Amino acid sequence: MESRRNFLRKAGLLAGSAIIGTKLSGLYGKSLPGIRSSKKLTLRFKPFEVRLKHVFTLAAGSRTTTPVVLTEIGYDGITGYGEASMPPYLGENHDTVINFLNKVDLSRFNDPFLFDDILTYTDSIAPGNYAAKASVDIALHDLAGKLLGQPWYRIWGFNSSETPYTSYTIGIDTPDVVREKTREASGYRMLKVKLGLDSDKEMIETIRSITNTPICVDVNQGWKDREKALEMIHWLDERGVVFIEQPMPKEAVEDMAWLTERSPLPTMADEALQGPADIGKVYGVYDGINIKLMKAGGMRAAHKMISTARSLGMKVMIGCMIESSCAVTAAAQLSPSVDWADLDGNLLINNDLFDGIRIRDGKVTIPERPGIGVIPLEDYYQL
Ligand code: MG
Repeated sequence: MESRRNFLRKAGLLAGSAIIGTKLSGLYGKSLPGIRSSKKLTLRFKPFEVRLKHVFTLAAGSRTTTPVVLTEIGYDGITGYGEASMPPYLGENHDTVINFLNKVDLSRFNDPFLFDDILTYTDSIAPGNYAAKASVDIALHDLAGKLLGQPWYRIWGFNSSETPYTSYTIGIDTPDVVREKTREASGYRMLKVKLGLDSDKEMIETIRSITNTPICVDVNQGWKDREKALEMIHWLDERGVVFIEQPMPKEAVEDMAWLTERSPLPTMADEALQGPADIGKVYGVYDGINIKLMKAGGMRAAHKMISTARSLGMKVMIGCMIESSCAVTAAAQLSPSVDWADLDGNLLINNDLFDGIRIRDGKVTIPERPGIGVIPLEDYYQL
């Protein structure tokens, strides 16, 4: 145990400091460490459970914890960190993710920059398992970014000063709790309100009794009647709502196309799509898409989704699950290129294991560190 801790600590320190100075120019010389060497990639992982500060209630149910799996890909003394988060509605859990990761043999690769080979191999192991795949993809990005000495927003060419404000989620609750949560969220420039139950108007009126901060609404498929949905969207439009996420069931394609055509507010697809291959299904049905690393299968797929959606003129938001700062900071690397961000999953938990993304004046702030930009906290080494 002690030696593992020391190894992890050493890897974390290296990742956090010494590697920062590595220059991209190393790519053109022989100085970039480790490419096509005899060194091999190693994957390690550990189940964990993130604890919510408040009971989290959506149209689909309530919960107080979310299972996650933390991954590490090691190479040449450097460690890349990743995470899988498994909210119950996506069908993955500790067992499915561990079972999947047990089948991933990264020792067959000795070049961490061969993303196509490595992630195509990972993808081919089994269909689905998007969170499990994301945990490998994120750790690989972290590792490669550290080897290059650059954060991913820079590798992709995004401007980190152009990150959006993040919304802060207010779950469905009693008016007293909603008032308390709204007051807690006073530092945020956008509130995300979960609707889809009988209390919808009361939720909005309760929040509006406290603040005029712009609101985005996530119905989580909760509205079943398109005429009522349209009426409700008009009512919300008059109350400073900016967009509507997944108002109707994902299967209600015709109703959604009808609603989007008439809606005064942009409609965003969340549950209606998973990865890059699904954008065609929601184009013309919704105005935009909510991309999440755990749905897409990681940063690479999410980046592709942004390009595809933009080329179709669609709005893009990037969201997250209830998860630690590891996966949320990975998602933040993409945030300069989206219209809206919903990157508050780490803020809703009280046992985070990483230092990473910060929210300053409501705005997503990406750490100036290579890779995905996270450093494990002391508790990480106690796991
Ligand atoms: Mg949503």
